[in-house]
Amino acid sequence: MPQARGTRFRSTRQAAAILAVMSGMPAFCGARDIYRALRDGGQQVGLATVYRHLRVLAERGEVDTIHTASGEGRYRLRASSATCHLTCRACGQVVAVDGTEILDWGKQVAAEAGYTFTGYTAALSGRCPAHAG
Ligand SMILES: [Zn+2]
Repeated sequence: MPQARGTRFRSTRQAAAILAVMSGMPAFCGARDIYRALRDGGQQVGLATVYRHLRVLAERGEVDTIHTASGEGRYRLRASSATCHLTCRACGQVVAVDGTEILDWGKQVAAEAGYTFTGYTAALSGRCPAHAG
């Protein structure tokens, strides 16, 4: 499998990794929490890069941002996002996959239980093509 090393590819992968980490964290986590979780997961990423991605993800509507009284940004995945993340258990590579069916299922079972659906977290894991078998 060819190894893409372009900035664009790395950037997309980092954004996906950030979303994946956030899906496993409580709502409205700080950028430093996300940064630490990424580093713990073996991602080579700087705090400034995390901030930059969070700004772009917020612009794309995938992440909600609030600012605390101290001016610190807090971030959470937008509940309406149908994007799920699939992580390779061997190398940690993350890809974004369509989670529309999970989203629809969540809305349905929440309604049946008399709840107003506000969001979901789903962490998918597997083996990427390079680590299959
Ligand atoms: Zn892999």
